[in-house]
Amino acid sequence: MVTAQLDDKNTKNGCAFVLRKGDTLQVIDPTGGNTCNMVLFNARDIREKMCSGKTLEFEKNIQPTTGNTLWSNRSNKLLEIVKDTHGNNDVLMPPCPSSGKSNDTGFASCLSQMIERLGNFSIAKDDIPDSFNIFKKVMVDGSGSLTAQKPSSKAGDTILFRANMDLIVGLTACDAAGREKDKINSIYYEVICAD
Ligand SMILES: [Zn+2]
Repeated sequence: MVTAQLDDKNTKNGCAFVLRKGDTLQVIDPTGGNTCNMVLFNARDIREKMCSGKTLEFEKNIQPTTGNTLWSNRSNKLLEIVKDTHGNNDVLMPPCPSSGKSNDTGFASCLSQMIERLGNFSIAKDDIPDSFNIFKKVMVDGSGSLTAQKPSSKAGDTILFRANMDLIVGLTACDAAGREKDKINSIYYEVICAD
C-alpha cells in the first residue's frame, strides 16, 4: 500500500503513478473543501485515455459517483467508482487553468503539475485529456449554464476506485475552486494493490 499527501507546500501538489488492473485507489479530503483533478491513460498504450464525452454518454450523469465508471476514448472501462461518501464530482471541466500558467495565489496549476508529472511517462501537454474532478461541485441550470460552486466536501470524505486495466494516473490537489487565505490545500491518496 502506498499512502501519500498532495498539497501546496513546495508546489508538490501533483503526482503520476501506475495503477494495476484490480488495484484500488482511495482519495481522501483530510480537512474538507478540497478538490482533486485526475486524468487516466492506458499504461500499455497512452493513446487510449480518459474521455469525458464517452463517460457522459455511457453513464448519463454529469456527476459520476458510486456505481459509475470512467471510460476511455476507445469505449473501454478505465476505473469504477466503488464508494463515494461525498457524491459531488465533476466531469465537465478541464484541469485548471487552461492556459497552463500558475494562478495568482502562487499555487501551481493542475495542468502545469500534470505536464510535469506525466512527462515522466512520455505524455506531452497536448495529450492530456479533460479531467475527472473529485469533490468538485459544478451545477447546471435550466438554460445549460455551468457554475463551479465552492467545494462542500467534509473532512474525511472519501472516494474509492478500482482499476479495470493497467493505468497511468495523474492526480493534483486543486486550488481553483476558491482557496481561503492561508489554507493549505491537501489531498491524501492511497494505492491498495490487488495482490
Ligand atoms: Zn486545479
